[in-house]
Amino acid sequence: MEMNFKNRYFRDLMERIIARNPGEPEFHQAVQEVLESLEPVCEKHPEYIEKGVIESLVEPERVIKFRVPWVDDSGKVQINRGFRVQFNSAIGPYKGGLRFHPSVYEGIIKFLGFEQIFKNSLTGLPIGGGKGGSDFDPKGKSDMEVMRFCQSFMTELAKHIGADTDVPAGDIGVGGREIGYLFGQYKRIRNEYVGVLTGKGLTYGGSLARTEATGYGLCYFTEEMLNDKGKSMRGKTVVISGSGNVAIYATEKATQLGAKVVALSDSNGYIYDPDGIKLDAVKRIKEVERARIKEYVEAYPNAVYTEGCRGIWNIKCDIALPCATQNELDGAAAQTLIKNGVIAVAEGANMPSTPEAIVAFQKAGVLFGPAKAANAGGVATSALEMSQNSQRYSWTFEEVDSKLHEIMVNIYHNAARAAEQYGMKDNLVAGANIAGFVKVADAMLAQGVV
Ligand code: NDP
Repeated sequence: MEMNFKNRYFRDLMERIIARNPGEPEFHQAVQEVLESLEPVCEKHPEYIEKGVIESLVEPERVIKFRVPWVDDSGKVQINRGFRVQFNSAIGPYKGGLRFHPSVYEGIIKFLGFEQIFKNSLTGLPIGGGKGGSDFDPKGKSDMEVMRFCQSFMTELAKHIGADTDVPAGDIGVGGREIGYLFGQYKRIRNEYVGVLTGKGLTYGGSLARTEATGYGLCYFTEEMLNDKGKSMRGKTVVISGSGNVAIYATEKATQLGAKVVALSDSNGYIYDPDGIKLDAVKRIKEVERARIKEYVEAYPNAVYTEGCRGIWNIKCDIALPCATQNELDGAAAQTLIKNGVIAVAEGANMPSTPEAIVAFQKAGVLFGPAKAANAGGVATSALEMSQNSQRYSWTFEEVDSKLHEIMVNIYHNAARAAEQYGMKDNLVAGANIAGFVKVADAMLAQGVV
């Protein structure tokens, strides 16, 4: 990846980070993007460099890696790897999801944990950054296999987390079912009924609107970004990648805001429904049957299924919301979207756009909402779940949803203001990195060398 640093300190530091964390390109990519944004901040505030804040920030406080043995339905022992990266606790207990996907390795969890520091800070709530997961693939496993895996995973993880220490949540491959099994095992091991995980079911401490939060929050952010330029989502055509938790609830809210969502995908391919996606069918296929998105065309023959997920960006749209996974939208896909007249792109997934894609959008004047800001609604609502658990009280759906809305509007304006303050008006990538960084960095300075 090309380095665009003006300052020698940052270039040297980035080279050291690459050497110290070999074979972790996603982590390098996430760190480099943040460091590039921080150059102007450190010119104004050299104390962040002089007092070692930047170097501390790129080194996780703790990396936990463990064996996860479990027995499959045929009686065979299976071994997976588990991870928890406790990246930064300057402003609150570690908070961030667990990802179960075969592509998971230490570098993916470090990139996600690093991003989480700034995202969590942007929410305005007191939560530090962490992330975890496993290379376990829940796809094709029976409920009992998933349960045995989760119990084994939590048997080790329970030693390292706690309601005031580290509070995991869901991510790719970890939804309500997995959180339930993980919570049950934590309670059994520790004999404590506490809010140690978020995304819990509503009968055992979950928050209303948590399931919807990331997708809804993404649309609240996108709407605010458009409103600020005198536009809105109403009447717009939207393409959304993925068909998991984030994609489904982004589709729901975009539709409520008057947009038409015409495409969704999974890792096998994508569906295009020119009449607008019928979400009930998608929810049945993905949430109940745990089947593939191509099943949709059986219910709606007007829709077309195409094999291969990357082609989704060839569909003409006004707004693109990548909600599947990292680096799913590259420079070529960005050029196609621009050629087709896209006006806004906001990231529901973490780091879905490659650096080349981001530069292309910014050069073309496309409004671009980076993941740290645009998908922060999930973790923000997780923090609201933590508050409700501490109070032993539940808020209504409307209360949580209105707090989520307010948080997303504030995130947009804080990022936009920070970008403008440092002479990068409309660059929300830099704005989100800077606004997220300053609060964490000041807390680190105040707490000394720890
Ligand atoms: P889910 O597991 O519910 O859904 C993931 C979706 O993305 C599925 O449709 C999946 O398809 C697709 N997908 C996953 N990996 C790939 C891949 N390598 N290539 C193509 N498609 C892929 O996860 P979520 O919806 O929770 O998460 C989606 C993204 O949003 C992730 O980047 C996550 O980090 C981010 N995010 C999630 C939050 C949350 O609250 N859940 C909060 C903030 C960010 P298939 O079923 O075929 O695997």
